[in-house]
Amino acid sequence: MLLLETGAEPSQLRIDAVVRTKTPKVQALATRRATTDYVRFFGLAQAVIETIKAGCFYPNPGWQCPTCEFAEHCRSWGLKHRKETAR
Ligand code: SF4
Repeated sequence: MLLLETGAEPSQLRIDAVVRTKTPKVQALATRRATTDYVRFFGLAQAVIETIKAGCFYPNPGWQCPTCEFAEHCRSWGLKHRKETAR
């Protein structure tokens, strides 16, 4: 279970999103998480860490790419392998 720094369990989770429209607004989205959600998330995070340590990589393009420090290398991902198998 995720605990707050006070040691208490969070009573609720909320995502506050700024909606960029002609008239911007703040939208509050209430959500819940159960213990199984945390177990699954930390298991997933551990699997990602192990995959990175094993040297595996595949692109996961998204909004973050324009400012990514690996973007130049990432764009050529897969091209070398294709050239080698096309021969
Ligand atoms: S550019 Fe960066 S953030 Fe985008 S897919 Fe490649 S590694 Fe991931």
